[in-house]
Amino acid sequence: MKIHLKHRADLPTQAELDKISNLIILLPERDTSAPWPAFPFMKIIRNRLKITDSKINSKSAITTDLPNEAGTRTTLSTLRAELTTHELLRLARKHADVHLAQNPRDVTLIMPGIRQRALRHRAAEAMLAALLAGAAAMPTCKSAKPGKKRLRAVTCHGLGDSFDYRRIQAECAGNSLARELTALPPNLLTPRLYRQRIRQLARQQGWTMRFLNHKALEKENAGAFLAVAQGSPDKDAGMVRLSYIPARGKSRKPLTLVGKGICYDTGGVNLKPARHMHGMHEDMQGSAVALGALLALSQLKVPFPVHCWLALAQNHIGPRAYKQNDVVTASNGTTIEVMHTDAEGRMVLADTLALAARDKPALMIDYATLTGSCVYALGTRYSGAFTNRDSYIPTLIAAGKHSGERVWPFPLDEDYEEALESKIADIKQCTLDGEADHIIAARFLQRFAGKGPWIHIDLAAGNHKGGLGHIPTDYTGFGVRFTLNLLLDQKIME
Ligand SMILES: [Zn+2]
Repeated sequence: MKIHLKHRADLPTQAELDKISNLIILLPERDTSAPWPAFPFMKIIRNRLKITDSKINSKSAITTDLPNEAGTRTTLSTLRAELTTHELLRLARKHADVHLAQNPRDVTLIMPGIRQRALRHRAAEAMLAALLAGAAAMPTCKSAKPGKKRLRAVTCHGLGDSFDYRRIQAECAGNSLARELTALPPNLLTPRLYRQRIRQLARQQGWTMRFLNHKALEKENAGAFLAVAQGSPDKDAGMVRLSYIPARGKSRKPLTLVGKGICYDTGGVNLKPARHMHGMHEDMQGSAVALGALLALSQLKVPFPVHCWLALAQNHIGPRAYKQNDVVTASNGTTIEVMHTDAEGRMVLADTLALAARDKPALMIDYATLTGSCVYALGTRYSGAFTNRDSYIPTLIAAGKHSGERVWPFPLDEDYEEALESKIADIKQCTLDGEADHIIAARFLQRFAGKGPWIHIDLAAGNHKGGLGHIPTDYTGFGVRFTLNLLLDQKIME
């Protein structure tokens, strides 16, 4: 259900406030003696804060109800221009949580006294992003169905016509899709069911879709992908290639997105223990983020083609499953010595990147919940970024900072690859020591990504307990917002 975003230049009158159920007030940060900006109920709110000795700040949201007919549920914070986007998004979630708990039909935002237009825009963007993210319905299998989320409109006061609502809507659509797919239990999102869902989406969005099944992949000699897929009793694994081709700009060099879509990761023959296997249906989040980014970019009608390659498979245990010491040949002719069957992500991505690179994209970005070592290095608040273009590094950091989906770059120097020297094949899949595995995994992928500009995002922040930034669920859909910033604000392809 679409949520309407409306804006008005002036503040609501007292009579209008009587009809508003939920209100967010953002005030400028000033010393306590400074006069408050004028807005309805200002005196009453100020007195209340004085009585309860509540200090209004930019880290939390104070909740009160207005003494009007609607008993308007109101949250208050101050705003500082120095707040980072991530801090703003966190603050926005605190407001959104209070209001969404009431399941309102509409929420109103006012920012009296905030003079800087840029700050008003940033704050409104964060508040809208948090409200939309919180209002997005996520899958549940409980027999008692939860009540429908009712939010239908958000009205922002104090914004001009230049405010970009479309971008927020598109980003929320992409992020919500990524989170919804990630939340689905593994028996409800097998590679086959996932593909059906993608086909439906492709039809709705006017994307062309190709599916490379086992047979097609055998023809491509995609032995690394097939090594992982061969353990599945159902031959439902394969690569999906989606294309968004704009009417104007179709001859431009494309952007290519690639995602790891392991619908369930048992670890394979090197089986995971229960603690680590729990939650492994989320190992397809990279593909969901690539798909979500494609959805957002095509809704925004970007003027360049976007291809999206999804590596859909499961990593099973069984008599046919690949094993340690197997040697397989990838589609670019590279022979790989299998070292650990739980390093399946880099195997399926190797062939997917190699095939995707044939499109000669202007830029290729892949997303994967790839390594535990990236989580050890960064925790789950940041994701790792890797690139074969050093000149991108400041841009990647900037996109993370400005979007609030923060990434930090890791080195990709050639000598890391010494760890992957194999006695029998061209390269080892991984090491058994696990030292700097996120870097070694990226070096491995680089062998398949071609010579063109390439960025690899290791989604350490794909799951953060309690949610991250403005996102209220553990699974974050991290990457869609970052990617939009990278392309549309940092303009990395120009
Ligand atoms: Zn694995």
